[in-house]
Amino acid sequence: MPVEAPPSSTRETLIGDLDDEQREAVLAARGPVCVLAGAGTGKTRTITRRIAYLVASGHVAPGQVLAVTFTQRAAGEMRGRLRALDDGVGTGSVQAMTFHAAARRQLRYFWPRVVGQTGWQLLDSKFAVVAQSANRAGITASTDDVRDLAGEIEWAKASLISPEAYPEAVAQAGRDIPFDAAKVANVYANYETLKARGDVALLDFDDLLLHTAAAIENDAAVAQEFRDRYRCFVVDEYQDVTPLQQRVLNAWLGDRDDLTVVGDANQTIYSFTGASPRYLLDFSRRFPDAAVVRLERDYRSTPQVVSLANRVIAAARGRMAGSKLHLVGQRDPGPKPSFSEHPDEVAEAAAVAKSINKLMESGTAPAEIAVLYRINAQSEVYEEALTEAGIAFQVRGGEGFFSRQEIRQALLVLQRAAERDDVSGELPPLVRQLLEPLGLSAEPPPGTRARERWEALSALAELVDEEVAVRPTLDLRGLVAELRQRADARHPPVVQGVTLASLHAAKGLEWDAVFLVGLADGTLPISHALAHGPDSEAVEEERRLLYVGITRARTHLALSWALARTPGGRQSRRPSRFLNGIAPQASADNAPSRPRRPRGPTPRCRVCNGNLTTPAAIMLRRCETCPSDIDEELLAQLKDWRLRVSKEMSVPAYVVFTDNTLIAIAESLPTDDAALVAIPGIGARKLEQFGSDVLAMVKDRQTS
Ligand code: ATP
Ligand code: MG
Repeated sequence: MPVEAPPSSTRETLIGDLDDEQREAVLAARGPVCVLAGAGTGKTRTITRRIAYLVASGHVAPGQVLAVTFTQRAAGEMRGRLRALDDGVGTGSVQAMTFHAAARRQLRYFWPRVVGQTGWQLLDSKFAVVAQSANRAGITASTDDVRDLAGEIEWAKASLISPEAYPEAVAQAGRDIPFDAAKVANVYANYETLKARGDVALLDFDDLLLHTAAAIENDAAVAQEFRDRYRCFVVDEYQDVTPLQQRVLNAWLGDRDDLTVVGDANQTIYSFTGASPRYLLDFSRRFPDAAVVRLERDYRSTPQVVSLANRVIAAARGRMAGSKLHLVGQRDPGPKPSFSEHPDEVAEAAAVAKSINKLMESGTAPAEIAVLYRINAQSEVYEEALTEAGIAFQVRGGEGFFSRQEIRQALLVLQRAAERDDVSGELPPLVRQLLEPLGLSAEPPPGTRARERWEALSALAELVDEEVAVRPTLDLRGLVAELRQRADARHPPVVQGVTLASLHAAKGLEWDAVFLVGLADGTLPISHALAHGPDSEAVEEERRLLYVGITRARTHLALSWALARTPGGRQSRRPSRFLNGIAPQASADNAPSRPRRPRGPTPRCRVCNGNLTTPAAIMLRRCETCPSDIDEELLAQLKDWRLRVSKEMSVPAYVVFTDNTLIAIAESLPTDDAALVAIPGIGARKLEQFGSDVLAMVKDRQTS
């Protein structure tokens, strides 16, 4: 039954300025409705209008509607739009909130009935309980480890995976974890036990959802009361729903079907937290009667920006690609997106600052400009460049570089060392040595949080390289003074400045001008996604990140990358593979200018072909128990050479190469750069520093 019309003036306000498809979604009869649409097509606009229309036409009371989404910001956006549409019909009192907020409210109400006397308390931070659980599992966990363990517990719970099922699930998902899966499962099990032990049950955010679903599933009276209260459900950004949230939604619905969902599978960028677009993509299979509406008109961006977004996402593979939508730009034409290649990141950032200045001179407000990057550690170079150019900025979704905990610690460590008399040596290796205990290992460590720390510390070490290149006579004391000065020069956060943000933090936002920076292969797609294989789901998610970034721009869009990290560094990078055939500088046949490490999904033993799991085995490229075919003489020579080099550089020997890396060299006898970088522990920097020495030694051995 189609929806009856509200008074004609209200009708005009609610649907007069919508296009045909948007109107179709708003006017669809009560029941399942699915809006599948790309960025900027008016999804949020459409669902808020649908709610208002249903309310205005008397089909549902405002209090019977529950509109949910995933972030506070998005929920606030919905509330704001509903309030603006109110006009006396009551849409302003519709409940629009996050899944968690809705569950919390319901649980508070139903808890005494389903549980009884025992109270509950929300566990705002699970850190202490996870740390205790790790301790009980016999794990010595650093702060980073505890955070990563907490992240794993959250992923498992959001995915409805029990501690028992965790090891298998994690192997399937190929997650980056700091400990053996069985140990993580053990911590997870301890965590659940510890929470339930006291007089008052401790509930984390995921428990709110689990208990809400269970209360409705297991108690018919609770279910009845709930379903009398809420009759109409709406979900925005439905591609972000987790299995746990879907379970709550199912409990809310029961056997009813008054559900409107909107989403864009191509904007799925939170898979690592358990979000899955499969519920969006399977909606019409679950509800065969659903009205499915596709929106294709993009009201946000110019046709030039829209066309680039279409081209990038056209290459997508896999399930999400099946929902590919071709966006049609509705706005007047604007400037073409620009693509620029720079010799190094410092030059790239300087060029971006210059362009921002130009935009501001021609009238664009700083708050309408954003610089977006893949990882937070990339902000450093831009903070520096904008500070130097006198442009105010704010770092969104993360603090400024010098406010990061590990960078503040690093400055303290360097300062203490500078105050001692017995510390000396060439600055770059000395700084790396001093920062090593903080987590600056030779290669990125496992675990998300440890990797972020490593990325920030690496950026600091590279900053030191730059300083030394400019001022070769600098000593440690001078360096610390210089770094402190830089930190102080960064302006305090301003609200009206240029936005610096990661692509993840930019989701759902829009600006007149967007700079997508650092688009080098290995940064986007990021190397740990490539480690899953070039055609992996992880790489596809990286492509969607680029798509999300492009579609944030209304008018001006600039894409850029640098061939080297630091000025004068080896120019070994190439543009993102997603720009092949799209950026003039990046054609499909521009093979990498230097060999890259081939990364397969699971490394295998070169003796028995079994899977390699421990870091040592991966480093050796064979099981530690498999026979070694080592050239002992070469190994001895390599060790002598390492000792000499480490003395010259005043660093510990393992900073040059670890024992396992030397063993791998003496076993695999690399004859060229490609074979050398294929050995774990040898990245671009080591290749540059020691490659020719090592290859010469191997060659000498073979010809002697
Ligand atoms: P995202 O995928 O990024 O969340 P969305 O599909 O939710 O985007 P909206 O935020 O609802 O898109 O709309 C994008 C912009 O286009 C908004 O400024 C909105 O007001 C405008 N817009 C949407 N539909 C129309 C329309 N029919 N006519 C004019 N402007 C429109
Ligand atoms: Mg939206």
